[in-house]
Amino acid sequence: MKYIVVTGGVMSGLGKGITTASIGRLLKNRGYQVTAVKIDPYLNIDAGTMNPAQHGEVFVLSDGGEVDLDLGNYERFLDINLKSIHNITTGKVYRNVIEKERRGDFLGATVQIIPHITDEIKHCISRAAQEPIDGGKVAEICLVEVGGTVGDIESMPFLEAVRQMHGELAPQDMVLVHVTLVPVDTMGDLKTKPTQHSVKALRELGLQPDIIVCRSSEVINPQAKKKISNFTDVPAKAVISAKDVPDIYQVPMELEKEGLADVVCSYLALENKEPDTRWYRVVSQEYTNRVTVAIVSKYGIEDVYMSIKESLKHAGRALSTEVNIRWLDAETFNARDLADVDGILVPGGFGKRGVEGKIRAIRSARETKKPYLGLCLGFQLSVIEYARHVLGISDATSEEMGPGTHVIAILPEQEEVSDLGGTMRLGNCTIKLKEDTTIAELYGKTEIVERHRHRYEVNPEFVGDLEEAGLAFTGSCGERMEVCELSDHPFYLATQFHPEFKSSPTNPSPPYIGFVSACKKNKTSTQTR
Ligand code: GLN
Repeated sequence: MKYIVVTGGVMSGLGKGITTASIGRLLKNRGYQVTAVKIDPYLNIDAGTMNPAQHGEVFVLSDGGEVDLDLGNYERFLDINLKSIHNITTGKVYRNVIEKERRGDFLGATVQIIPHITDEIKHCISRAAQEPIDGGKVAEICLVEVGGTVGDIESMPFLEAVRQMHGELAPQDMVLVHVTLVPVDTMGDLKTKPTQHSVKALRELGLQPDIIVCRSSEVINPQAKKKISNFTDVPAKAVISAKDVPDIYQVPMELEKEGLADVVCSYLALENKEPDTRWYRVVSQEYTNRVTVAIVSKYGIEDVYMSIKESLKHAGRALSTEVNIRWLDAETFNARDLADVDGILVPGGFGKRGVEGKIRAIRSARETKKPYLGLCLGFQLSVIEYARHVLGISDATSEEMGPGTHVIAILPEQEEVSDLGGTMRLGNCTIKLKEDTTIAELYGKTEIVERHRHRYEVNPEFVGDLEEAGLAFTGSCGERMEVCELSDHPFYLATQFHPEFKSSPTNPSPPYIGFVSACKKNKTSTQTR
């Protein structure tokens, strides 16, 4: 196993995750088997209990792991399915060590950060690296992204573990990549000092980077590279310019041009094979159309819906259609905001805030026959909207939202749940689709596997009445309703599952393909009208 460890300096939010995923893509394009691990130095066991407005989307893996959104980037860039063990947190590491201590595994010893916590970190990394990819082969290369910024107290034990790994592994089995920021001053000059300082901080921890990836609004010119090289002992050819690009999927191409693959391969003693360029072709497909989609949400932060945003992009690329997103605040938007969009999307969510606005948007999509895609909470709210305005159950609501007629009720197995962490209905479930329906047509089959994250479901008591009133449940998992659609509407589809967690540029998600192509049709028909 060869390791590529990625650390970050200067500040957070530099796109370390995209850089990591992109390095993986460069190697995957060369035919290497690549896997990835994300280290999150927070004390939470997983991201499931964190507020997405602070931490970004909670990404859901096939095994039900609720993880950092960077794992979504790895899956999308590498076209692999990762597992919960690929997201290592301080919480998980300490829990394991404390469990071992209680069991008596360390009997007689004083349990300490070094060696007990660092040993556990190394064990977690190697176990995740050795996990066969999608049940097949074990990877040849494992990317390890250390979250946070060098110098943070929280990431110290992880960097110490990396330092130990560096000593234990053969030199050609590990490369250290440091991602930093090179700001541009008002005179337009590249400022290398923050990079010098962050490399210094890394060296104080016993880590010398092999490669420096410089994030900047400008290209890092040869003089700046030379300067960084002088101060850091990193050869100039391993100082890589990573200028901002409009689309994250262009990053691998930019790094390719910078010769990063060559540097990585030579350090890791790997043959720098001729890259397969299919992925580059897919992600640079030209746009010939443009549609505007409204996403109605209670958060004004786009990172909360990272996977939805990306899935729209994937479907858009496949349909040569640029998808422009209009973010609408569920509590304050007005009818005018929806009038000129080509489609309406209501995403997942929790809690009462913004729910009435989302229902308003769904009603508008249904009545004005605008393409509509509802996801998870969006699916549940479609059912509530239909129950209220078509079935006439004026107090229809979800048990989650309080009193009323609960057309959406708690899942039976959730009634017993007391702990809130990791206890939702999570991850993969097999769904049966009815033949001759929009959903079955989109997937081209009648059995699918998709990912979930919810506690509530369509109350089985109301399914018959809703169907009779015209809302067709076209996908289910046993008693559980998973998909609904309307036949007297150009495109009205909602799913209890989250198709966005399985979409990638080379494998766009069928419901998103259906939605974007309906938006495209809607646009053409309104234009010709
Ligand atoms: N809050 C809803 C539930 O728990 C929907 C969850 C979601 O949208 N992910 O069932």
